Amino acid sequence: MSQDFFIDTAPIILVDMDGVLADFDQEVKNRLAIKHPDIPILDTRENFYISDDYPKHSLKIRAISDEQGFFESLPLIEDALEGWQRLLDLKFHPIICSAPIRSNPYSKIEKLNWLKKHFVPVFGERVVDQAIITSDKHLSDGIVLIDDRPEIMNSDAASWKHIIFDQPYNRDKIGQPRIIGWQDKNLSDILKPAVK
Ligand SMILES: [Mg+2]
Repeated sequence: MSQDFFIDTAPIILVDMDGVLADFDQEVKNRLAIKHPDIPILDTRENFYISDDYPKHSLKIRAISDEQGFFESLPLIEDALEGWQRLLDLKFHPIICSAPIRSNPYSKIEKLNWLKKHFVPVFGERVVDQAIITSDKHLSDGIVLIDDRPEIMNSDAASWKHIIFDQPYNRDKIGQPRIIGWQDKNLSDILKPAVK
């Protein structure tokens, strides 16, 4: 059969980028230490937006994540590539589903460039070809969305079930399935109930 006619019927798992695959916080902290060494870097994270954890310096923090080159520079979250491979091994079809940052005009293209740099060499062009960069994640189809954001806009109208990717700033969101890092031993048990 020609590959053109191959239909992938594996259940789709949508995967967020920032705070799930790409370490947004670490890059903010790296740049903060260089640009504003006078601002103490906090050990704790409480609010979803890191700028909200630095109320006196929120404009400086936001200026950092609006810089050209910021999104291309994000380090990988620990075991992100292994996690993507685990989804494939579990016979799921992972697809990127990430929101652009409206205040950063480079974020969309840089997110795709980041995938080309880190994911395409391991998993092929399909990752970037199929990547969805949208602010309206509820319009994308999948059985699951893995996302660190505690509240996803219009999630009630979505086809997917939101599974939280554990981060310090989303731990007050209880009563929802949660993945603790990409090495989570319960990954399969957490995802399987979503398969119809
Ligand atoms: Mg995120």
